[in-house]
Amino acid sequence: MESSQTLLKLTEELQKLPGIGKKTAERLVYFLLKAGKKEAQSLALRLNELAEKVILCKICGGITEANPCAICSSSARDKSMICVVEQPLDIAIFERTNRFQGLYHVLMGTLSPLEGVGPESLRIDELVERVKDGKVKEVILATNPTMDGEATSLYISKQIKEFGVRTTRIARGVPVGSDLEFVDEITLMKSLEGRQDI
Ligand SMILES: [Zn+2]
Repeated sequence: MESSQTLLKLTEELQKLPGIGKKTAERLVYFLLKAGKKEAQSLALRLNELAEKVILCKICGGITEANPCAICSSSARDKSMICVVEQPLDIAIFERTNRFQGLYHVLMGTLSPLEGVGPESLRIDELVERVKDGKVKEVILATNPTMDGEATSLYISKQIKEFGVRTTRIARGVPVGSDLEFVDEITLMKSLEGRQDI
């Protein structure tokens, strides 16, 4: 492998991806090499498109190719409700349930004192700004049921309390310590319906 700097550099790049160790990275590089020029070039093209076209919505922080995103700019969505999630990917999970008609707000993580993530690193100020205008009647806190997720929800509920908005937390149907990513749609739908005031 070390005989080619190009291979080495690509392997190093792939290793930066979550869940990819050195062995897997090497295997992927060899696969692309064997698959031929077209495969590698097509992957490069898609990666380029991802970097060039895909952006985060300036309002909700969700993944989009237009700003604001289709959800934020839709007249069919209920603008009185905001569902707060940790990651852009969580929006897709809620959308699959087809039950939530409101808007979203992505935090881009959770508070994590051990890892040095404070409120200023998250999109909390942006959420407060959205709540301030008085049109929002309910904020549903849908952070993961982990310790950091719970602490983040509690922190946010305190931040928006003064604006007289109803603040709810999704129900415990979601297994404790798990990521929303791994929860099935029915469980998520039930946890949304069973949300409680905090
Ligand atoms: Zn948006």
